[in-house]
Amino acid sequence: MKTESESPNPADSAGIPAGSSVENRYENSPENISDIAAIETTDLTRAFGNLTAVDGVSIKVAQGEIFGLIGPNGAGKSTLIKMITTLLPPTSGSALVAGFDIVRNPAAVRRHIGYVPQSLSSDRSLTGYENLILSARLYAVPRAERAERVAAALEMMKLADAADRMVQTYSGGMIRRLEIAQSVIHHPEVLVMDEPTVGLDPLARRTVWEHIEQLRETFGTTVLVTTHDMGEARALCERIALMHGGRIKAIGSADELMRQVGAGATLDDVFVHFTGATIDSAGDYREARAARRSARQHA
Ligand code: ADP
Ligand code: MG
Repeated sequence: MKTESESPNPADSAGIPAGSSVENRYENSPENISDIAAIETTDLTRAFGNLTAVDGVSIKVAQGEIFGLIGPNGAGKSTLIKMITTLLPPTSGSALVAGFDIVRNPAAVRRHIGYVPQSLSSDRSLTGYENLILSARLYAVPRAERAERVAAALEMMKLADAADRMVQTYSGGMIRRLEIAQSVIHHPEVLVMDEPTVGLDPLARRTVWEHIEQLRETFGTTVLVTTHDMGEARALCERIALMHGGRIKAIGSADELMRQVGAGATLDDVFVHFTGATIDSAGDYREARAARRSARQHA
């Protein structure tokens, strides 16, 4: 069991003795620590005015699992991810991430996760190396370990040769690899990625998948990833949750879900079967094009 000290944070301290839930994050669980989910949401809900963007979502992601959240534009994927990463408070419901409560202990959650947002986030006017050093400082990697961590991250993501080039000279795929490297520089237990491959060509996509798998193999990282590409979900994820209208409509491996739909079912058939909607919407296309434009601006 891990212990750590908590820095003062008003959001963390509502009615909770300092450090209590931090030092014993698994105290209420009788199970073996390795059996405990890396992410567990219970009826997690978020409304914006009249719109319920995420509606009573309960999912469990096992430690070391690569779990995909699949749905068209507007399904609620990013909103769910923002709650799990503590960027957005839930309207109701709860979630434990790496054993910590997202509402009672957001600072502890943030220390144990890495996050790759949907929009491109590296600083284009800095080099890859400089971006990584910034992340290492941001995530409080001890000064003495920073250079080594950054070198290892560059090596792992196959960016060592480009380390001293400005990010604005990188391809979209290189930028995504850099962002993943930045988000795992502190070796988080849980990595959350929002549409990490949107706008990438098939080869760059495949490379990103390989790097995600390598992270899991090397560090045992749990990965939660969103996509609106069922093929990607099948290739990368052990299990997927199909999301539509803020709700989870089905959970299982892509192959399990395909079997449930019947012989000869395509991945697109699976989505239609469980959600009553197609995954390709006009919105999706616009979003992919916008991401591609933004990736090109970086290229
Ligand atoms: P996805 O990531 O699956 O495309 P989002 O979580 O971004 O879906 O959005 C789900 C719904 O919530 C959409 O209808 C979107 O317009 C709405 N929404 C998201 N963020 C906000 C916000 N900050 N204010 C109002 N509505 C929002
Ligand atoms: Mg989104």
